[in-house]
Amino acid sequence: MTGTPGIDPSAPPSGTGCAECEEHGGWWFHLRRCTQCGHVGCCDSSPAQHAGSHAAVSGHPLIRSFEPGEDWYWNYATSRYADNPGPELVPPLSHPLEQAAPGPAGRVPRDWQSHLH
Ligand SMILES: [Zn+2]
Ligand SMILES: [Zn+2]
Repeated sequence: MTGTPGIDPSAPPSGTGCAECEEHGGWWFHLRRCTQCGHVGCCDSSPAQHAGSHAAVSGHPLIRSFEPGEDWYWNYATSRYADNPGPELVPPLSHPLEQAAPGPAGRVPRDWQSHLH
C-alpha cells in the first residue's frame, strides 16, 4: 500500500483491451485503467461503459487513461479529474500504439460513431 486511497502502483493492467468486452466479444472506443486493481475497461463514450461499471461494482474510484500519450486521472466518486497521485503505475501505461481505437480491429461496426454515448 502507498497510503493513497484507490491506488496500487504495483497492480499491472489486466490486458490490452477491455476485460469484459474481450470476454463478450464487444468493442470499445477508448480504454481506462483502474489504478487500484489494474482492471482495463472501456470509457464512458463506449457502448458498454465497463470502466464506469467496474468502479461502481468494485468501489475502486480512480482510473487513469489507458490511451497512448494520455496521462490524466479521473475520480468516479467525485466525477472530477484527479491530480497525478504518484508514484507512477507499473507499465504498460497504455495499450499498444498499433492497437486501433476504436477497437479491437474486426469487431468495430461500420456505424460505430452512432453507438457512442
Ligand atoms: Zn467494455
Ligand atoms: Zn479496480
